[in-house]
Amino acid sequence: ETVLMFSTLLFTALCVINLILLNSSINRVVRNIIFMIEIYVLIGYFIISGHPEGFSVLWVSMIPCFALLIFGKKEGSLYCVFPFLMLLFFFWLPFGQNMLQYAYTKTFMLRFPFFYIALYIISLFLEIIRSLTQNKLKDSEDKYKHLYRHDALTALNNRYGFYEEIQNCFKNNNYGKCAVIMADIDHFKRINDDYGHQVGDEVLKDIAKIISETVCEHTIVSRWGGEEFLMFLKCEHDPMIFCDEIRKKISEKVFCAGSTPFTVTISIGICVADNITETQVDSLIRAADDELYNAKNKGRNLVIIKQFED
Ligand code: GH3
Ligand code: MG
Ligand code: MG
Repeated sequence: ETVLMFSTLLFTALCVINLILLNSSINRVVRNIIFMIEIYVLIGYFIISGHPEGFSVLWVSMIPCFALLIFGKKEGSLYCVFPFLMLLFFFWLPFGQNMLQYAYTKTFMLRFPFFYIALYIISLFLEIIRSLTQNKLKDSEDKYKHLYRHDALTALNNRYGFYEEIQNCFKNNNYGKCAVIMADIDHFKRINDDYGHQVGDEVLKDIAKIISETVCEHTIVSRWGGEEFLMFLKCEHDPMIFCDEIRKKISEKVFCAGSTPFTVTISIGICVADNITETQVDSLIRAADDELYNAKNKGRNLVIIKQFED
């Protein structure tokens, strides 16, 4: 009874310490160890008392599934070792057996540690399957999230991705210099008609790559529609410089349809603004689209820039 009283008091003290630690910034592993010591004290109580009629020791078999689920395979397995040693001490060693207050049968005391090992192995398998399934689910979730925000052909942002990035961009700081750039491949329909859609797709991929590699690092690039690319720049850089570089690189690149070489051009409309808010981005996109339309009307393969007027 002294042992039981001691373990009850120790259990209470550990509960109190654990409650205090729960709200503190103490290392997670230290907190886990204290929590598990608390459980071990409780187990000691259950094994020794066996109350009622030898039943309480069965709670020990809960440890493997509980520890592996909460702490994972490695840490959980370590926490499963001590209860096993306790079972061996109290059930197999005469010194431990003398401390028992319930008369367990010899068969029970001999077999229960094996039962514990079997439960540990089953729990380990279940935990491995659970964590593998969870990882696969997480991968699918990441893939789905990526597909939701990105264009499958060019891997650039799609419209949803673009607006999400815009939201992030304006989260901390509403104001500053910015520009919206709308680019559209010239006579792209002809490329599809002359060389086929597959060649058209390759051209789209190559142009997306040229754009991504040439823009300044603060630019959000997206595939806005079929052969249209929309960019948003929120910094002091002059967008005219890299846009003209994009136009030049594309017009100089020689594409191939089998053994037939061909060239492509792009028209770009830019609208620059100072101190706009997130709600004005759509007006800026419309203004950039108007400039793109101007570039098309003025003969294509052209970059036109305009200051935003609200
Ligand atoms: P403009 O210079 O006026 O822009 O002429 P355009 O021919 O480029 O413009 P138009 O809007 O008439 O045609 C766009 C073409 O882009 C039509 C469509 O078949 C093609 N297109 C849109 N999306 C894709 C795609 O994902 N792959 C391919 N291969 N073609 C696409
Ligand atoms: Mg076009
Ligand atoms: Mg178009």
